[in-house]
Amino acid sequence: MVQKKKVSGNPEPPETGVLKHPKHFYGRIHILVKNRLWLQVIIALILGILAGLLIGPSFGLIDTDLSKLIGEWASIPGILFLKIIQIVVVPLIFVSIIIGLVGARDLKQLKKIGLIFVVYLIFTTAIAVGIAILLATTIKPGLYVSADSFDLEGNENLSSDISAFSMPDFKDLPSLIDSFFPTNLFGSIVHGELLSIVFFAIIIGISLLILRKNKSRPLISVLSSVQGVCMIIIKWAMLIVPIAVFGMMVKLTSGFGISTLVGLGSYVMTVLLGLFALICVYLILVFIFAKITPLDYLKKIKDAQLLAFSTSSSAVVMPLSMKVSEEKLGVRPSIAEFIIPTGAVINMNGTALYQVIAIIFLAQVFGISLGITSLLVLSFLVIGASIGTPSVPGAGIAVLAMILTGLGIPTLGIILILGVDRILDMSRTTVNVTGDLTASVIIDRTIKEDASPK
Ligand code: ASP
Repeated sequence: MVQKKKVSGNPEPPETGVLKHPKHFYGRIHILVKNRLWLQVIIALILGILAGLLIGPSFGLIDTDLSKLIGEWASIPGILFLKIIQIVVVPLIFVSIIIGLVGARDLKQLKKIGLIFVVYLIFTTAIAVGIAILLATTIKPGLYVSADSFDLEGNENLSSDISAFSMPDFKDLPSLIDSFFPTNLFGSIVHGELLSIVFFAIIIGISLLILRKNKSRPLISVLSSVQGVCMIIIKWAMLIVPIAVFGMMVKLTSGFGISTLVGLGSYVMTVLLGLFALICVYLILVFIFAKITPLDYLKKIKDAQLLAFSTSSSAVVMPLSMKVSEEKLGVRPSIAEFIIPTGAVINMNGTALYQVIAIIFLAQVFGISLGITSLLVLSFLVIGASIGTPSVPGAGIAVLAMILTGLGIPTLGIILILGVDRILDMSRTTVNVTGDLTASVIIDRTIKEDASPK
């Protein structure tokens, strides 16, 4: 018999032949899963989906009302998680952008960061819209689906989800532009208007950078404390992420008919293919600018991606993205703290791609032909709309309604795609978050190379 060396302190459990004590497996699994948020989230996701499908209408094992009730109860940890994050997301976006801006070396460097960010936004949004038009017009997903095959009657209550995000009408464009320039900081904070908050934060951040150090220091230290408090609260919220994800998936899939997914398969697959292509573009950009290989990059950002997939909200993932950007991708805090929160609000390429495909799909379903001019108008509308889309679940489809009206496509079409929107929301949010992280790492590396010490 081979003698085992004694390890001091922590004795190995005795070998019991082929069969090992269950505790042994538990110990191993515990070590494997501990401190690996991504693994915990994946396990929770899979278990949640399975549990949800099992009690859902597809299997018909239990009564629909009971499965609905179980779904509601299961979603409580998820609601709690989202509520905690919502408490801190507004102040966190506000203070992080300011702290990021004042962390810049000087105004010249700030200009450079801003310029690269704008170029990045224009370039990647154009690619996203281009991919969407290419895929939707070549695959033509709308030709596989007939509007008549959907029961649009009696679904009006679904549109209440949409009206929750009622957007200004297309003809109100001037007043929409006017609303981009807010006048009351506290009003914007109270109403959670993220775009306005970003606007204020940028103005205040630049002013603080110009202000003399002895005058700006007190305010900066107060803002840093606010940021610290928010991060502690987020740390607490993160403790319940796996259980929250499990519950959210149970609720999501328990009310989910697989038949809806199959019926709209061509549309779902086109959007997913487009999002996948966009992720590939990001991976190539990161490889070119930051010399990080695709696999390595995905490994580093998977925590943020999985949380985006589970929560469907870039705003909720923003604090984790900031951490991932700084700690895993080595982005300087001054850049991460400016780019990630700003990106979470305005950089939504996954949403833009999805909106273009959804519009072309619906136009095909309703037999409306979109010529080159319409496609061009559509592209500009979507670029503007994706910037204005709030970074919360379901916002993309709500904003879509406004664009549809502008293009003369029946808004009722939204009801067609609402049934599968959650899965697409999860996927496009993952791409949105990946886009923010990619922007931060590219800007960090570009500025580093360029900035020659004076
Ligand atoms: N849920 C998305 C996000 O937070 C926005 C959307 O609905 O497209 O990034």
